[in-house]
Amino acid sequence: MSSKTKTIELEPCEYCDAILNGREKLVTVYRHRGASHFIFEHVPAQVCPRCGERYFSAKVVREMDRLMQDQPPHASTVSVPVIEFTLAA
Ligand SMILES: [Zn+2]
Repeated sequence: MSSKTKTIELEPCEYCDAILNGREKLVTVYRHRGASHFIFEHVPAQVCPRCGERYFSAKVVREMDRLMQDQPPHASTVSVPVIEFTLAA
């Protein structure tokens, strides 16, 4: 998962040039602020039909930023394994 968020500019997809259809799907987004990690569920995003890159509107990004600073009381917490990757070869 990428922690980068991109705002919607104009179609087409900036990575593969596929035309985005403008329809939003609800996706799960992982973000972090410093050492604090957040998972947002049901976030509206445009998803590239070819490469899967996700585009969020500036409004959605701002709301995620706000929610990371001021967590809603209904937020649930999960524990996530942190694994230092090494290739066993
Ligand atoms: Zn694409």
